[in-house]
Amino acid sequence: MNKHLNNIKRIVVKVGTSTIIDPQGFINKEKIFSLIKDIVELRRSGYEVILVSSGAVGCGNVELNIKKNTSLSQKQASAAVGQITLLNYYYDYFKIFNTNIGQLLLTRYDIENRKNNLNATNTINELLKQNIVPIINENDSTVIDEIKVGDNDNLGALISILAQADLYIILSDIDGIYTDNPKTNKDAQFLDIIEKVDDKIISYASGKGSEFATGGMATKLEAAIKVNAAGIKMIITDGSVDGVLGKVMNHNIKYSLFLESDKKLVAKKKFLLTTSKMNGSIIIDEGACQALIKDNASLLPVGVKEVIGTFDIGDAIEIKDLNNKVIALGIVNYSNDDINEIKGLHTNEFKRKLSNKYLYDTIVHKDNLVIK
Ligand code: GLU
Repeated sequence: MNKHLNNIKRIVVKVGTSTIIDPQGFINKEKIFSLIKDIVELRRSGYEVILVSSGAVGCGNVELNIKKNTSLSQKQASAAVGQITLLNYYYDYFKIFNTNIGQLLLTRYDIENRKNNLNATNTINELLKQNIVPIINENDSTVIDEIKVGDNDNLGALISILAQADLYIILSDIDGIYTDNPKTNKDAQFLDIIEKVDDKIISYASGKGSEFATGGMATKLEAAIKVNAAGIKMIITDGSVDGVLGKVMNHNIKYSLFLESDKKLVAKKKFLLTTSKMNGSIIIDEGACQALIKDNASLLPVGVKEVIGTFDIGDAIEIKDLNNKVIALGIVNYSNDDINEIKGLHTNEFKRKLSNKYLYDTIVHKDNLVIK
């Protein structure tokens, strides 16, 4: 047992299309079955498991005998067909082990919108409470660019954050991250523990001429940055190994482990980290910047200079200094119209001004702030 994997309870497992579809272009039923057996065993050992599965487009293409998706609508049609195929396998195979599954098809909108995000979180928690395995994919058939996560490495990361998982395991076609492409450079070093994804680590994944590293590894590192910042560990390992999940938890397999940052963030702050599209911004004066950064204070109306964009209570916004530099992200307690009315005012003045609309003393409470 790796000491870093003590105290793990909730695990998000991400499986990619390359595991679901074999190199000959057929659905890899044996692999899907072995993955499910592995998940069932993990659950029997006391872990909670959430599965983020790709393969909708791939399975759809197999069903429809399509070799290459030529248009977006064709791809979305394939996803509509293939999601059923994929879930049929999951349904049949999990039933063999008397295990129920529940499907969630999400988009970035569901993650960024606080109400949807809360509902998705509650549904996942309820499924787990009832011993049901949540199986999640992006809603590929309806998603448009503006609200697309785009790849399941990142989707799995966002799910790990909203479900407050302890560990995110990405099953890949490589056993972890190397300093260079191990296929072409025999001196490439394997990295078993990564304390922080810094520029050096990122350079390993984007080095020119390293075929394994582009795309695939880049989105995995983006995922690691997200989950690690939210206090969650991440592992990349080779999904083709039989019983891979059990072997990870028993430290019986090679893997790269990305350690979480030691900051403990409350749920709302985690929500902010999952939100990439901000609803607007608030420009604040120098004194307020200092108070936020140095004193870990809340943002009060008195420090607000300007409000940009249209937003409502509970929306995520950027907080900028007078040079237009983003210094923090936050969840607002008032709409842009209300803030415009009370900006620059001291507490008593703005309470009076807002009268029955007054709810909170702060524009953004410190618990709902993440300093950049
Ligand atoms: N959601 C896509 C699918 O199910 C996969 C996205 C990805 O491969 O990262 O086909």
